[in-house]
Amino acid sequence: MPFSVAIVGRPNVGKSTLFNRLVGRRVAIVAETPGVTRDRRQGDGRIGPLRFRVTDTAGLEEAAPESLGGRMMEQTRRALAEADVALLVVDGRAGITAADEHFAAVLRRAETPVILVVNKCEGAAASAGIAESYALGMGEPVAVSAEHNEGMNALYEALAGFEAALGEAVWQDGDGHGHGTPAPEPEVAAPEVPVPEAANAEQKLRLAIVGRPNVGKSTLVNRLVGDERVITGPEAGITRDSVAVEWSFRGRRIELVDTAGLRRRARVRESLEKLSSEDTHASLGRAEVVVLLFDATEPPAKQDFGIANRLAEEGRAPVIVLNKWDLVDTPGGVMQDLKSRLENSLPQLQGVPLVTCSALTGRGCDKLMPAVLEVYGRWNIRVPTSALNRWLNDATDSHPPPLASGRRVKLRYITQVKARPPTFAAFASRPEALPDSYRRYLVNSLRAEFGLDGVPIRLFLRKGKNPYVKK
Ligand code: GDP
Ligand code: GDP
Repeated sequence: MPFSVAIVGRPNVGKSTLFNRLVGRRVAIVAETPGVTRDRRQGDGRIGPLRFRVTDTAGLEEAAPESLGGRMMEQTRRALAEADVALLVVDGRAGITAADEHFAAVLRRAETPVILVVNKCEGAAASAGIAESYALGMGEPVAVSAEHNEGMNALYEALAGFEAALGEAVWQDGDGHGHGTPAPEPEVAAPEVPVPEAANAEQKLRLAIVGRPNVGKSTLVNRLVGDERVITGPEAGITRDSVAVEWSFRGRRIELVDTAGLRRRARVRESLEKLSSEDTHASLGRAEVVVLLFDATEPPAKQDFGIANRLAEEGRAPVIVLNKWDLVDTPGGVMQDLKSRLENSLPQLQGVPLVTCSALTGRGCDKLMPAVLEVYGRWNIRVPTSALNRWLNDATDSHPPPLASGRRVKLRYITQVKARPPTFAAFASRPEALPDSYRRYLVNSLRAEFGLDGVPIRLFLRKGKNPYVKK
């Protein structure tokens, strides 16, 4: 049995067109739910050698936009519950709308892994939309044109990762009886240690520097970029007055996507508060690594934790900088205090790198970029499936999942479905019965075992008793 894919998103982004593209003329079923009008189509999808079941949630255009929160969401949730992977489709030409954000928020909370698909990307008209789509916090978007059949290779690659993961899971499945054959070993011997993805060494690392007003963002930017700065001018479409800055560090090109400090230098007058929150929003969206600046002379404020939380939710690689360290009289105390606050308020970023520096004097600033590269490396890590499953065995042996209605929840298999941030899918007999505390245990143990300190980790629990097993 193939795996199943749900196409979701607001009306008019091209879901049906994509559905037709994937299914061709092979539409098999038009599912009719009694009492509800046609609400989804299913068919056998295919890209290259990949086969999957695909569900389209389009057909709701007649619904009044106000009911977006109602019927469409219900529909989306149902499709999600049945799918192994969701494709969240947005319109690259129209850019990101409030409705897209709404969908993204729902998907972020769902247990189904999501691939963000930016449609209508033929030609150049969608480049701004692609850049904007990072702000949805759904990771790297896949740019396609459903109508013009472009980008299907990229979509194939994104889906194939899941297919491989799910295909392997089949062998681990069943009610403990096993199905005879163990997961086939990959042909190329998998490395035994986590490896960062190598392919992107040439790519720019997108860095944002965020923080409350006055913590020293502009000062730090000037310090970091120094004379090497190259102002490449306004980039069409992103933010009208944004300025891209690039430099290189140890041979890696760094692009600063935050613009707060720069704008002020460019004497754009705006309310600081407004500027700060909007910029934070936009730069978190586009960045890979985010440097969150604190003012070490003040206790961290609610707003600081708000930004940090957001950063974790969106899966960015974080570095926390305590700036104005030159003004601190009791370094030990300040550090201790911050560490305990972070532990309590941000367990999802356990082990986040902390750098102390003075942007003003330059002291300590040389530690920042190495910390950025290190956390970036961890954020890119791919853990081999064999190592993951050895870990899962140990972790569940030494601390078995709790009983639920008298039966023990079984965790059968785990695999990394993507990096950036590290995202894992684990298969369990009854995932819904696993308490949050057990999930936290798994995440913390994963983090410790594979050196994933400080980076957000996503763990999806899927039902292992699944439709892939031939009856
Ligand atoms: P749905 O409501 O999300 O199912 O969207 P549809 O598939 O009905 O498409 C909405 C509109 O976008 C239609 O006019 C399509 O022709 C158009 N469309 C779909 N895909 C593309 C594409 O890749 N490029 C462009 N330019 N238009 C597209
Ligand atoms: P932004 O609003 O976050 O961009 O903050 P600025 O870079 O404009 O800095 C705000 C104020 O803090 C300015 O007066 C800076 O000179 C000062 N400042 C920035 N970094 C440091 C630092 O490391 N030490 C000290 N003592 N002052 C700093």
